[in-house]
Order: sequence, then structure tokens, then C-alpha cells
Amino acid sequence: MGSVAEVIKCKAAIAWEANKPLCIEEVEVAPPKAHEVRIQIIATALCHTEAHILHPKFTEAFFPVILGHEGAGIVESVGPGVTNCKPGNSHDGESYKEQSQVGLFT
Ligand SMILES: [Zn+2]
Repeated sequence: MGSVAEVIKCKAAIAWEANKPLCIEEVEVAPPKAHEVRIQIIATALCHTEAHILHPKFTEAFFPVILGHEGAGIVESVGPGVTNCKPGNSHDGESYKEQSQVGLFT
């Protein structure tokens, strides 16, 4: 924990297009910027909203996308200006803004 200045590699479930299986791939995750938090995801699932994204009749989706924003995990590192949590704290809840910063660590 605490790799605030480092790019890390982790696994993520990526949707490349609608109505196709998710692909588990290795991605690089940048260190958190100001007011961002990087979370080590322990458990996640697809919610109803994300199921819509994968539906072929939903035309407003942007691909590729890493799904699973309602995960639970542990704060891995924090960016400058973050004062309400620190590495090692638990996190459970939605993380829309953090979606591009979150992955499934191995
Ligand atoms: Zn959701």
C-alpha cells in the first residue's frame, strides 16, 4: 500500500462493445491526482445501470469501459488534497469518478 507516485498494473473486466463477454485484461492505473483516491478492489459486481450499458439497444454507452463501480475495497493511495481518508481505510460504495482509476488488483 501507499504507492502514490507509481503507475501500477492490475486486472480489469473491460467491456469493449455491447452484448459481448467482458475481457479480463491487464491495465495500467495512474497514481491518484489531486482529490482522487485509488482503491484496491476486493469485491465488485455489475449493477443494473451497468447492465444497461451492455445492452445492444442502449446507444449512449462509451466503449471501452471498465465496469464494477459499486465495489468494496481498501484505499491504496490518495492524491494531494485528500483529507477524509488514508491508505488502509475501507471503502464501500459507488465510485463513478474513480471508475477509470479502479481495477481488480492481483
Ligand atoms: Zn451502479
